Amino acid sequence: MSLKRLEQVDPEIAAAIRSEFDRQSNNLEMIASENFVDKAVMEAVSSVLTNKYAEGYPGRRYYGGCEYVDVAERLAVNRAKQLFQADYANVQPHSGSQANMAVYFAALKRDDVILGMDLAHGGHLTHGSPASFSGRFFKIVSYGVNKETERIDYDELRRQAQTHRPKMIVAGASAYPRAIDFKAFHDIAKEVGAFLMVDMAHIAGLVATGLHQSPVPHADFVTSTTHKTLRGPRGGLILARAEHEAMINSQIFPGIQGGPLMHVIAAKAVALKMAMNDDFKKYQQQVVTNARILAEELISQGFRLVSGGTDTHLILVDLSPMDVTGLDAEKALDRAGITVNKNRVPFDPKGAKVTSGIRLGTPALTTRGMGAADMVQVAGLISQVIRNIDKPEVLDKVRAEVREMCGKFPLYDDLYD
Ligand SMILES: *Cc1c(COP(=O)(O)O)cnc(C)c1O
Repeated sequence: MSLKRLEQVDPEIAAAIRSEFDRQSNNLEMIASENFVDKAVMEAVSSVLTNKYAEGYPGRRYYGGCEYVDVAERLAVNRAKQLFQADYANVQPHSGSQANMAVYFAALKRDDVILGMDLAHGGHLTHGSPASFSGRFFKIVSYGVNKETERIDYDELRRQAQTHRPKMIVAGASAYPRAIDFKAFHDIAKEVGAFLMVDMAHIAGLVATGLHQSPVPHADFVTSTTHKTLRGPRGGLILARAEHEAMINSQIFPGIQGGPLMHVIAAKAVALKMAMNDDFKKYQQQVVTNARILAEELISQGFRLVSGGTDTHLILVDLSPMDVTGLDAEKALDRAGITVNKNRVPFDPKGAKVTSGIRLGTPALTTRGMGAADMVQVAGLISQVIRNIDKPEVLDKVRAEVREMCGKFPLYDDLYD
């Protein structure tokens, strides 16, 4: 892809793009919600489809000239349905948050009760945080993890559901390293007459390849992002049973969105197609294996992991036994070229700006081709940084090693000339 024209028109933006490419290439990207998309996905995102208005749905648009974007959207919808074995798919949500908003607004009335996972225990902002529309428009009751096991306690969840009688239960998380039992959620929702929405944003790639239980047979609504483990463009999607089609469609447009991002929808189609390949399954298996090996290595280096390990692509490290904050760890790791995010751990006495933990994920490193031996090396580097957090010379030494490691796993050969 060329930046030739951009360099003439806007050299500052061109320079920012080059610098960001350099940053992505020369750092270990361990933010669990990030990934590196295929060039085919980027080619679709940067295509002429960005020029097209297509309010409405394929075959019934409010604008002329939609015959080719209709092809793209139909492909995306059909592939989403096929990949996840769903009756219905809407690929128009601009993001995961928009997907969740559309489901809430379609299925609930203002001030209805939602039972969702506590942000501080791994849930997402849109699952009821007062800082999000979800907490402002609805009454929120939160569930968390058990203090001993640091896993969801389904008996406690059932008690809360029976006490609070929610209209909707929301399952799914952003910082929960363990498998989630969607069938158990379904049974509880059914007992209290609540809708079940599963937000599989983080684990969609694992679900697509059978490495995590699918929520589709159990949930009334399934929402997802397309840019995390699924490795597509930044965006969202909604799956549901066919009976919900009309209400979700009209809630996305005209309910909460205007014209769909057709270039992004085309890129979603590309990513969904790629997710059906054997290569993608092998990739997801390696993501999970890498996370398990990274977890084992970190434990053997003396780290405490929330819940003692992982079943997925994600690890939550509790740094409080080492007397290090998430904030300081994130900064030191950044200096050493390892990109992570600080994250609260369950029952964290520290606030969201400081935190006691960091969240690590393997999807992006695995896309670069890293395997088990590399995870052992990465665990060693993380350990050196955390143990020498006040020693800039050690951090710089790790930085050099990170750069060398990155050199062995080139990201996008000759992307920008
Ligand atoms: C990332 C995430 C989202 C939000 O996605 P955006 O595209 O950032 O709006 C929603 N739910 C969960 C569980 C997530 O992890």
